[in-house]
Amino acid sequence: MSSPRFRVAICGGGIGGVTLALVLGKYAGQGIQVDLYDAKGGFAEIGAGISIWKRTWFILKNLGLERAIGEIAVRTPVESPQPSFAFKKSDVKEPTEVFWRMISPYGTITVHRADFLKILIERLPKSYGVHFNKRLEHYTQESDEGPITLHFADGTTSQADMLVGADGNKSPTRQTTYKNLSAEAEKQGDLAEAQRLQFFIRPHWTGTYIYRSLVDTEKLLKICPGHPAATVPLVYIGKDRHVVSYPISRGKLVNFGTFISDVGREGEFIDGPMVVDVSSEETIEPFADWEPEVKALLQCSNKYSRWAICQIRGLPHYVSGRVALLGDAAHAMTTHLGAGAGQAIEDAFVLGQLLADELTTRSKLETVLGVYEEIRLPIGNSYVERSRKTGLAYEFNYTPESVLAAGVDPGSPEGLKLLSTFVYDQWSCHWGYMPDKDWERAKEKLHKVLSHS
Ligand SMILES: Cc1cc2nc3c(=O)[nH]c(=O)nc-3n(C[C@H](O)[C@H](O)[C@H](O)COP(=O)(O)OP(=O)(O)OC[C@H]3O[C@@H](n4cnc5c(N)ncnc54)[C@H](O)[C@@H]3O)c2cc1C
Repeated sequence: MSSPRFRVAICGGGIGGVTLALVLGKYAGQGIQVDLYDAKGGFAEIGAGISIWKRTWFILKNLGLERAIGEIAVRTPVESPQPSFAFKKSDVKEPTEVFWRMISPYGTITVHRADFLKILIERLPKSYGVHFNKRLEHYTQESDEGPITLHFADGTTSQADMLVGADGNKSPTRQTTYKNLSAEAEKQGDLAEAQRLQFFIRPHWTGTYIYRSLVDTEKLLKICPGHPAATVPLVYIGKDRHVVSYPISRGKLVNFGTFISDVGREGEFIDGPMVVDVSSEETIEPFADWEPEVKALLQCSNKYSRWAICQIRGLPHYVSGRVALLGDAAHAMTTHLGAGAGQAIEDAFVLGQLLADELTTRSKLETVLGVYEEIRLPIGNSYVERSRKTGLAYEFNYTPESVLAAGVDPGSPEGLKLLSTFVYDQWSCHWGYMPDKDWERAKEKLHKVLSHS
């Protein structure tokens, strides 16, 4: 057997890092040496539900996961237009009607995160190294041509020809990259640029907290017979707050989150943990004046965790030399479009195939990663903005142009109708075109740049 063309270190065994390993396994097999490092003692997903859309489904099918994931989804996914989230304006005491029901190809494919990750892990190529309890602190590179050295918290090191930071929104890979880029700008006397680059080292708070919980569907229906959250994905909107719920685990559980925002605080940095357990009172009280259906759902749980929603807006580079960022490390985003995991999977789909291409050799890695950045950065960053704007619109903190032009109250029936059109437009990126188009563009660019180098 011929020796591997180069060694890839993937830091982070979340959805993005594991998917990259699967794409490499499918397209490069043992032609590339792959080592995956994670800070935790084993593969684990925190949180509960995750929604999947047509673009992501396309990649999962490409990886041969259609059947396995279909089996853990609430409903067997079908491509024809299906009802997806139903929207209500619920910041009133009286019961309200659904004002809009989104229809999309496949509807919303909802799964439990742990089940989803398990399916990915089971398919990791056996020849790839998996290393747990390896918390990356930073990386170094002695020379332009030399290997990249990963430095872990346990004092050990490891080397590779390239590093992919799939290490989440606090990404130590991104931290190292942006500290280096900022120091370089400072060395060149560009202090303004040095300061701008510093901003990307840490993720910043959006001003929104999400209070997440899970409720047993039987319990919900016992307390509140016929509650629509048992079967229908819902978005309840209102000023500075909203609630999202959808069934998971084949309908046995309802996953939901309440969002509370103070938009003036966007851009602040969070010191301390981003996730904490909180009391039911803290979660339920802000919705005291909301419609009964929302209050009934919230009262079914006595276990809530509060997550500070953080983001990385407009990262200027996903790549530096032979180091690439992937998933939340590159484009941590708000949850309002249910897109973060899908975007991590898309990064993996494009990057994995670029690396697997037979023209990609160790000496070309920097050029190849440049193509990854050229294709993926505009898309990843645009999702961050779409998702942010969608959340602001749900909470009446952003008024779409169409509503302004009509001169109507955004909360009026006419305003809500226009809002629905705006929201649909934001969501439609999930099914507008398929990621194979991005890969085709990437492949074309790759062959163009490599034939000239
Ligand atoms: C409430 C909520 C709801 C969401 N809903 C959806 C949804 O419906 N649909 C959707 O597509 N997305 C959703 N997302 C977003 C999605 O969860 C993330 O975008 C996705 O998990 C990112 O995957 P990742 O692999 O990039 O990062 P992560 O899942 O964060 O994985 C990072 C991995 O890196 C490891 N790591 C971290 N630091 C280190 C270190 N120093 N050294 C080594 N390893 C390290 C971690 O242990 C982890 O395994 C949601 C997010 C939240 C918070």
